[in-house]
Amino acid sequence: MKTILKNVIENNRDITKFGQVATYIPELAKGNRDALGACIFDTSCNSILEGDYETKFTIQSVSKVVTLICALIDNGKEAVFSKVGNEPSADPFNSLLKLEIQENHKPLNPFINAGAIVCTSLVSGDNGIEKFSRIHNMIKKLSNNDDIDVNYSVYNSEKLTGNTNRAIAYYLKGANIIEKDVEDILDTYFKSCSIEVLVEDIAKVASVIANNGVAPWSNERLIPEEVNRIVKAIMTTCGLYDTSGTFSVNVGVPAKSGVGGCIMAVVPNRMGIAVVGPALDKHGNSIGGVKVMEGLSRELNLSIF
Ligand code: GLN
Repeated sequence: MKTILKNVIENNRDITKFGQVATYIPELAKGNRDALGACIFDTSCNSILEGDYETKFTIQSVSKVVTLICALIDNGKEAVFSKVGNEPSADPFNSLLKLEIQENHKPLNPFINAGAIVCTSLVSGDNGIEKFSRIHNMIKKLSNNDDIDVNYSVYNSEKLTGNTNRAIAYYLKGANIIEKDVEDILDTYFKSCSIEVLVEDIAKVASVIANNGVAPWSNERLIPEEVNRIVKAIMTTCGLYDTSGTFSVNVGVPAKSGVGGCIMAVVPNRMGIAVVGPALDKHGNSIGGVKVMEGLSRELNLSIF
């Protein structure tokens, strides 16, 4: 498996030249466009690292999975889906387009920015500090890494420039979808996106989801079974924004991407995979990451379909 991972990464290195690092969050423009690395962490705790696996990155939209897990645990399925839908969106991740025409102005799903801002508002805690601490503790547990922290340069950069997200959040407040202080919720959202990790951390998070919500290293249940099932379903239908269908056809596993260049993938009952490649395609998905996942799916027969 190590050789397969190494070859798939090396065979796809050149494609990173056709992508661009995210620049709309200025600090992300400093990402290494050429980097490509991955980790496979299986449900028996074997860890395989290849390529530029030492590249640190911020999780960005991969945090939406952790936020959804917290929101579902803290509120239950009915309460969450009364405020956010579970249908795929054919629009970019930061689109405001459908908010006005959607029934009750509900965002389409928890993995576009609007839906993740709603989920952030639902995470338990009286203020942003408590809400963020809930999300932060959850990712520490899911990755078995207590040292995970925020990259404050990215956080400040995003907070300073995140005006589209601000527009989304104020619209949702006006539509009575989110309650409490909008800036506080945005602050928690920006901080969650700015959590800095390595591929091994994210492959471990994915391995818990692959293992039906139970940590492979301790046998402790970290995610209730029903929540875990819902999260896998939404990752499959909405995880790569408006390219989720193509990813399902070409790779065929629940996954979530982020503009920091990560793709987190869950191979049910087998393994968690994380790829990092900061050069993105025009949809905001890691251009090399998608190709690595396609190669791995072919070589290791990963598709669930
Ligand atoms: N923090 C980013 C944003 O809100 C996350 C987007 C992403 O990774 N797709 O724009």
